Amino acid sequence: MAIVELLNVSKRYRLGEQDVIALDNVSLAIEEGVFLAIAGPSGSGKSTMLNLIGCIDTPSEGRICIAGNDVSGQTPDQLAELRARTIGFIFQTFNLLPVLSAAENVEYPLLQFAELSKRDRQKRVRKFLAMVGLRDFMDHRPNQLSGGQRQRVAIARALATHAKIVLADEPTANLDHKTGEGILRLMRQINRKSGTTFIFSTHDRRVMNMADRLVRVEDGQITKFGVQSGDGWVFVQDHTHDEDDPEV
Ligand code: ADP
Ligand code: MG
Repeated sequence: MAIVELLNVSKRYRLGEQDVIALDNVSLAIEEGVFLAIAGPSGSGKSTMLNLIGCIDTPSEGRICIAGNDVSGQTPDQLAELRARTIGFIFQTFNLLPVLSAAENVEYPLLQFAELSKRDRQKRVRKFLAMVGLRDFMDHRPNQLSGGQRQRVAIARALATHAKIVLADEPTANLDHKTGEGILRLMRQINRKSGTTFIFSTHDRRVMNMADRLVRVEDGQITKFGVQSGDGWVFVQDHTHDEDDPEV
């Protein structure tokens, strides 16, 4: 079953006198448990697509279903609840709270769940920080951690709510290549082990090759949809315009 479904989704932004079409009649079904990369040049609509899937933004037209919920009819409160319980976010700039320790950053989104006791929260914090290899860095503040370690804290924070879908907008863009690859490998390992659906955007060819699904976006439209098979990508849809970049 698809955990994310976009049906004829368009997003327009008003910019002064002009309408910018960030997404243009996009339809896409994402199966539960996949590790999906969204690739495309800057300005092609990657962040817009992630923000719509994450219910941070609403479409100008079309329908979005997340984990069986049609998002269009929902109130802001219902959307906030869906976001809090179903979706985890990872950002290019990590977005950790600088005055909080690694443990407190991971605990922070759990404070909104009244059913969790302090003990339950701390158990989750320990479990997920251990999962990302930061058991010994619980008390460190973000400025006492490297970029890669900060992104690991952000991964633990995204997972600690038991999110079904983790959305990551260019999660490796502020990391050197080797660290970025390590972050992707960690996400991939968690994806395989837990079945959590990961959807991430990237520019980096080597990083996108670690995905098992690939969506190529150009000018607000999906031009390719690929499935990773044993010996490379199989493209089930291909309307690429970008001649300079035939591989993706
Ligand atoms: P990407 O993440 O692939 O770089 P975006 O989704 O951020 O692309 O942007 C897609 C298009 O929508 C771009 O032309 C961008 O300038 C425009 N856009 C994005 N957000 C806004 C906004 N809040 N207001 C106006 N235009 C926007
Ligand atoms: Mg972007």
